[in-house]
Amino acid sequence: MNRKLLSLFVLLSGVVSAVTAKHHEPNFVVIFCDDLGYGDLRSFGNPTIKTPHLDRMAEEGQKWTQFYSADPICTPSRAGLLTGRYPIRNGMTSAARGVLFPDSSGGLPQEEVTIAEVLKQKDYATAAVGKWHLGHLPQHLPMTQGFDFYYGIPYSNDMAKIKGAPNYRAGTGDPDYYPDFNDFDVPLMDNETEIEKPADQNTISKRYTERAVKFIEENQENPFFLYLAHSMPHIPLFASEQFRGKSIRGLYGDVIEEIDWSVGQVLDTLRRLKLDTETIVLFTSDNGPWLVFNTHGGSAGPLRAGKGTNFEGGQRVPTIFWGPGRLPPGVVDQMGSTIDLMATFASLSETKAPTDRKMDSYDLSPALLGTGDSPRNEFFYWNTGELNAVRAGPWKLHFEQREARNYSRRIKLEKPELYHLEKDISEAHDVADTHPDIVEYLTQKAEMHRRHTADSLPEQLGARIPNFQYRR
Ligand code: MG
Repeated sequence: MNRKLLSLFVLLSGVVSAVTAKHHEPNFVVIFCDDLGYGDLRSFGNPTIKTPHLDRMAEEGQKWTQFYSADPICTPSRAGLLTGRYPIRNGMTSAARGVLFPDSSGGLPQEEVTIAEVLKQKDYATAAVGKWHLGHLPQHLPMTQGFDFYYGIPYSNDMAKIKGAPNYRAGTGDPDYYPDFNDFDVPLMDNETEIEKPADQNTISKRYTERAVKFIEENQENPFFLYLAHSMPHIPLFASEQFRGKSIRGLYGDVIEEIDWSVGQVLDTLRRLKLDTETIVLFTSDNGPWLVFNTHGGSAGPLRAGKGTNFEGGQRVPTIFWGPGRLPPGVVDQMGSTIDLMATFASLSETKAPTDRKMDSYDLSPALLGTGDSPRNEFFYWNTGELNAVRAGPWKLHFEQREARNYSRRIKLEKPELYHLEKDISEAHDVADTHPDIVEYLTQKAEMHRRHTADSLPEQLGARIPNFQYRR
C-alpha cells in the first residue's frame, strides 16, 4: 500500500476510534533512553541485541532515521526536549561543567515553559518517571515544571561515587563485568523525598516500568503525558535478575533487552486498556553511545563518533513513533528533533506552545500523520555553549570538533569541514574544497543563528553561570 492510501486508511480507522474515544486529545508517552546509540536496536541494524517489542513497535509505527537529540549530553538534551528551545536559550549548557552535578545549585529556570505545563491547558495528568537531571533541589524538581509527580533519580547514575570504589572504566573491557550499586550514592526520589540511598540500580528499570504502568492505569479515563526517562544504558550498567547474563552481547545487551521488555509492558498496557488508538508513543535517546566505556558503551552503527561530539553519532538517535489508527506505519527519512516535540504535541492536542519567546520547535504533525513533509530542514549542533556545526538539507558544516572517544578534548579546525550526509553518512569525506558556495551559505546560516541566540545571552548569561555553580 502506498503512503497516501495508507494514511487515508489510517484516517478512516482514526475516525472509527474517535467515536469510541474517551477524550479527543491523544495521550503522549515519551520513552527517553540515556546514551542509547543509533546502532543498538535490531530495527536500526543491530545483529546481537534482541529487541522484539521495539521491533514490533517499529513495524506498527514509524521509524525516523534522521532524528536528533537537542544536544550531545544529558542536561542540555533534556532541557531542549522539554522546552522546545536550544539549551543555549535557557541556560542549561555550560562550558565549565557540561552537565549538572550533585553539588550544582541550579536547574531549569522557572520562567521556562515545559511540554507538561503546555498540556496542563487541557488538564493532562503528567508524570516524570526516571532520570531528571534538570536540577535536584526542591525548587527545580519536576513538580515545579508542570509534572504531577516524580519518581526517579535526580542526576546521572554514575554521580556521587563513593570514595575508594573500584574504577568502573577499568572493568569495561570485560563485557560481563558487573558493578556494585553501593559504589554510587545516588538517591531514588518519590517527589521531594529520598526514599532510597543509594538507589538499588539492579531493579531500577523494572521499578520505573511498574510506576509508569500504574500511572497509565490510574489515568485511563483522562488525557495523560508520561515522560519515562530511563537512566540506562548510561554507565554503570545494571539489569534485574531476569535479564542478567542472558544477552550474547554481554551486560550492555542485557540492559537494552530489559528496556525492550519495559517498552513491551507500556505498549501492552495501552492495548489492554484499549488506549492504543488514543495514545502516541515516542521512543528515543538523549544522545549517542558513550564510546570511552568500551564494551559497556553502545554502538552508533554507521555514524561517526558518539556522545559528547557533534558528529552524527553524538546526536542522531534511534527513534520510533507509534500511534495505531493515527500515524501511518513506515520509515520517515526526514529530519526531526526532540526540540520539535513541544510544537508537535501542542498541535496534536490543540494546546498552545509559548509565543512570548524565541522557539526552535517545528510541528512535525504533517509528517507524522502522513499529510505532508517535516518542516524541519536545518539543525544547529551546540556543544557546551558553542555552536560547533550546522546542517541544512543534506549538507553539514563543522566549525569545531571533539575527539571521538574522549569528548572533553576539543579539536580546533583550521578550516571548516563539509560533509554530504546522504552520500556520506559516516562523515568520512570532507568536500569543503570543492563546494565553496555551500561552505559560504552554511557559514552565514550559522552566523545568523548565533545572532538569533545571542540576544538571549545578556539576560541568560547571568543565569547560566549560577545554574552550574558549586553549592558550597
Ligand atoms: Mg546521556
